[in-house]
Amino acid sequence: MADAPRTVLISGCSSGIGLELAVQLAHDPRQRYQVVATMRDLGKKGTLEAAAGEALGQTLTVAQLDVCSDESVAQCLSCIQGGEVDVLVNNAGVGLVGPLEGLSLAAMQNVFDTNFLGAVRLVKAVLPSMKRRRQGHIVVVSSVMGLQGVVFNEVYAASKFAMEGFFESLAVQLLQFNIFISLVEPGPVVTEFEGKLLEQVSTAEFPGTDPDTLSYFRDLYLPASRELFHNVGQSPQDIAKVIVKVIGSARPPLRRRTNTRYTPLIALKAMDPSGSLYVRTSHCLLFRWPRLLNLGLRCLACSCFRTPVWPR
Ligand code: NAD
Repeated sequence: MADAPRTVLISGCSSGIGLELAVQLAHDPRQRYQVVATMRDLGKKGTLEAAAGEALGQTLTVAQLDVCSDESVAQCLSCIQGGEVDVLVNNAGVGLVGPLEGLSLAAMQNVFDTNFLGAVRLVKAVLPSMKRRRQGHIVVVSSVMGLQGVVFNEVYAASKFAMEGFFESLAVQLLQFNIFISLVEPGPVVTEFEGKLLEQVSTAEFPGTDPDTLSYFRDLYLPASRELFHNVGQSPQDIAKVIVKVIGSARPPLRRRTNTRYTPLIALKAMDPSGSLYVRTSHCLLFRWPRLLNLGLRCLACSCFRTPVWPR
């Protein structure tokens, strides 16, 4: 007899990776999943519902969930039979890019409230039932920025580093309860959100920032970032496929990177534990040799980098 479908709760499904993942799981040919696709604003459910098609109301239901609100989390779980979530996917997240001096503490707090505490809030809510049943899988959409810092992304990277430390620590205890944790670490992903964000920050004023820093941000970082997304960026569908595999795996990995083309940039950090190689190379490429950086990014897009490079 086939196993009962597993209930998968995903946060942040109105767009991007969350939307794609919800749709792919709901269309699983073996119908192994009942997807609860959640979003903060149900007014935005139209795109997801259209993409879900016949799965809507069958293997996929849409529910309201703001990861920053205890009430919203409790209300959402109360609508799931027995409150029993088998797989939790912490996907909801926000970005923050720009010179530090020009960013408000409120904006920084929002990044931590959403990316880090939002995930922690959901985990606290589903954990008692997972522990009681001695089964569960918590998937976290982290980032390569949870493994290495990236210039002008300090606060976003810090929020993802926080997730990495938190979930790696928790993984040890939860293994005793047969509950697995998987951190999925995408590189750049081309979503509408990213395009709008880069467009917005290119005209933002960043009050209090000195002219040199502003010029480095606008004239060096932003063009390099656009090149990076253009040459190395993956689609939300690509990331969703990787997460579907991770969820379907009998022995889920703790860490799963998604983009072999980004690997050379990660390797710089792994090759030198002192950290200097990564920091100095990044500095030189961005501030001294932007043309070489540009050429390097184009090379990464080329097929010779399709073969994985250590470390995988
Ligand atoms: P996205 O903006 O399309 O998706 C983020 C989703 O989170 C949106 O639907 C948004 O409404 C939702 N969200 C924001 N605040 C929320 C809240 N308080 N409660 C509930 N939902 C909330 O962008 P995406 O690229 O699909 O991002 C998904 C995840 O992937 C994020 O955690 C992001 O940090 C991570 N990520 C993205 C990239 C990238 O380059 N786009 C790279 C690595 C990791």
